[in-house]
Amino acid sequence: MSYGRDTSHALGMGDDVSNESLANLLKEERRFAPPADLAANANVTAAAYEQAAADRLGFWAAQARRLTWATEPTETLDWSNPPFAKWFADGKLNVAYNCVDRHVENGLGDRVAIHFEGEPGDTRAITYAELQREVSRAANALTELGVAAGDRVAIYLPMIPEAVIAMLACARLGAPHSVVFGGFSADALATRINDADARVVITADGGYRRGKPSALKPAVDEALTKPGTENVRSVLVVRRTGQEDVAWTEGRDVWWHDIVGRQSDTHTPEAFDAEHPLFILYTSGTTGKPKGILHTTGGYLTQVAYTHHAVFDLKPETDVYWCTADVGWVTGHSYITYGPLANGATEVLYEGTPDSPHQGRWWEIVQKYGVTILYTAPTAIRACMKWGDDIPAKYDLSSLRVLGSVGEPINPEAWMWYRKHIGADQAPIVDTWWQTETGGMMLSPLPGVTETKPGSAQRPLPGIAATVVDDEAREVPDGGGGYLVLTEPWPSMLRTIWGDDQRYLDTYWSRFEGKYFAGDGAKKDEDGDIWLLGRVDDVMLVSGHNISTTEVESALVSHPKVAEAAVVGATDPQTTQSICAFVILRGSAAEDEGLVEELRAHVGKQLGPIAKPKRVLPVAELPKTRSGKIMRRLLRDVAENRDLGDVSTLTDSGVMDLIQAKLPSAASED
Ligand code: ATP
Ligand code: MG
Repeated sequence: MSYGRDTSHALGMGDDVSNESLANLLKEERRFAPPADLAANANVTAAAYEQAAADRLGFWAAQARRLTWATEPTETLDWSNPPFAKWFADGKLNVAYNCVDRHVENGLGDRVAIHFEGEPGDTRAITYAELQREVSRAANALTELGVAAGDRVAIYLPMIPEAVIAMLACARLGAPHSVVFGGFSADALATRINDADARVVITADGGYRRGKPSALKPAVDEALTKPGTENVRSVLVVRRTGQEDVAWTEGRDVWWHDIVGRQSDTHTPEAFDAEHPLFILYTSGTTGKPKGILHTTGGYLTQVAYTHHAVFDLKPETDVYWCTADVGWVTGHSYITYGPLANGATEVLYEGTPDSPHQGRWWEIVQKYGVTILYTAPTAIRACMKWGDDIPAKYDLSSLRVLGSVGEPINPEAWMWYRKHIGADQAPIVDTWWQTETGGMMLSPLPGVTETKPGSAQRPLPGIAATVVDDEAREVPDGGGGYLVLTEPWPSMLRTIWGDDQRYLDTYWSRFEGKYFAGDGAKKDEDGDIWLLGRVDDVMLVSGHNISTTEVESALVSHPKVAEAAVVGATDPQTTQSICAFVILRGSAAEDEGLVEELRAHVGKQLGPIAKPKRVLPVAELPKTRSGKIMRRLLRDVAENRDLGDVSTLTDSGVMDLIQAKLPSAASED
């Protein structure tokens, strides 16, 4: 098993610490009913839960009919060789046809698919008809480069339309893509090229990042000097920044505008088996070495299309949808490329950072395009909180009607801020729990049905079977805590870890017989709603009590002087572990002895004395993955004076030097 430490004794989380804290977090009984008009016109009503409960496979078979199949499937699930699932196995379809061509055939060619907003302010509106031509040209170009069904293509691009076009062109040819986040180093890229044995790399000269062009091609050139990348025969380069000094390897490198530009803009898509591989994507590496997750076609597209329709209540004729994720992580795959386009949505694609050139950029974009549905991550919401309420207040955000969150547990404080300052105290928030491995959303409120609670992902979606179990795999009663597990296969589940079936079995299916172990701690409240408590690897054991990092972090963030917090358990001779908190202060808060005491006392008051951090360290930045998740395992390494583990997916390794430099003085405080 790939856990950082022994978790066998962890997570009897129904104990007093957690219950008290939950009661505290819910002390105002904050619950929000869906707006009446949204509920009255919702795409999905409470009946969906009943239908799916009565006939789960029938429910998914019905959802599969959202897609256009070249051969309709007659089988739904083949679970004869668990945990290797086959969904809709005798069906055939083309994913790109479903995301693009069929909308044009249905008379929607003039609808905008993508409103692209470049960081420098350049824009491009791409209709479905243009998208069809672009994807066809790109597919023809890849064919000219020798890409055939089954060949792997690495995509290493900024957030520009060509990223989506490249993914769809690969899907059209049945060539699985492996998108590598554009901010990763040459080493990280090389490892992924090697692991997937990619034949072609699609990249760009560079992208814009914080007001400046930032080169990408040099990292590809460097990656391709490393062992294991020899099978890459072509590098397709999009000209984005127009940097003049692009190094060129003749015979290998080709400009996108040359080769794609001269192709025919028609291409006949071929239908592939529903279990044909669609993509490999590496997890974000929060808990250890990234895993190459394999997704296939029919079941994946069914679930991402259904959940995008249900959870965002998407009305494709009128909504303008915006997911701020990068295409380099799974949210960008499922909820920028495949789900929204399968549903014929109009969406915004933004290249840059939220604070370029100013901290109101996102809200300016919402106002400009009349965005109605916004999907983002808690880390971004906390950053906006830190920048101040006055910034979003300058923009007209009244178009927003549904807000989504993904990536980490959302602190109740951040949830309330999001609702109040972005959603005008009106728009429902859907807190969606899922993973690279699950492919699509698994737990979430439904905006027209669920009475939402700040900080809870609440219930499995219709057709999804999830629960919380204890160490012995027994389902915990309402009010109890333990491990989140998925008890039935689902259409967009990973099929394996690329090239490593054994690791697939060990990581997900060996902890609890017949159940998928997600690696996350969770608890059920008195209504049976599920609250995510962070990774089980991160749960702290203090004097016999299991304490969740999420709860202590949320308590810290609820203090007016704290913008962000990361909490870890460090080995302690007296108490097994002691709680060590790293906090980012809000702009004006001063760092002094008094503040540290104040924060410790605040947590003690919120959660009980046992949850008081032993150490509180104000820091300027926290170590985060490229997808914005806090990497607690690195903080644990620092707190325990160990060498850092895998840092390949860390945004900025300088952050760790700064934190390490702070630690000794803080340690001497107690
Ligand atoms: P690795 O598996 O390599 O350690 P990772 O788990 O961070 O990386 P992802 O698949 O991107 O990689 O993240 C999935 C995880 O993110 C979930 O297991 C969960 O811990 C967390 N997560 C995602 N959405 C939510 C949410 N809405 N609430 C709580 N946690 C969430
Ligand atoms: Mg994970």
